[in-house]
Amino acid sequence: MAIIALEGMKFYAYHGYYAEERVIGGEYLVDVDISTNTNKAAMSDELAKTINYETVYLIVEAEMRKPSKLLEQVLLRIIMGIKYQFDNIAGLEVKITKLNPPMQGQVASSSLSDSQSFKTKCGRCSRGLLCYGDATCWCNTTELYTKTQENVKEQFGGRCLCKNCLNFFSG
Ligand SMILES: [Zn+2]
Ligand SMILES: [Zn+2]
Repeated sequence: MAIIALEGMKFYAYHGYYAEERVIGGEYLVDVDISTNTNKAAMSDELAKTINYETVYLIVEAEMRKPSKLLEQVLLRIIMGIKYQFDNIAGLEVKITKLNPPMQGQVASSSLSDSQSFKTKCGRCSRGLLCYGDATCWCNTTELYTKTQENVKEQFGGRCLCKNCLNFFSG
């Protein structure tokens, strides 16, 4: 398991519930921690896209650029953006810190963070693998899985299967 971290990405952005916040703007820091599965056997090599810092930064920058009333929306968009871009993420943590928030009294910063884990086990052989738990999961994007999807889902309670087990079903 490797951790890819980008910390203290600084942006001047125009988020905020009040109109004046979206006019004046403010300073934000964003931290992203991504853990990736280095166990290639559990993934197909051709599907795994390399996670690189530049792409992660560009995703964060694009979402910070869109003014939003709620920081929760920005946080969710960053998480989804990173998740959709890469298919080999085991865990993801994103933190948005607002510097000098407009409050009574002196407050250095306020922050919002969320973390998600995508580690699971193959429904058939219990080998460790990654599942995004939705239509974006790599297993749902292979032709093989589409063909046998109904059958396999029924047999294994809708759980993800590893590449080896999917190959077994391709017969
Ligand atoms: Zn398996
Ligand atoms: Zn899956």
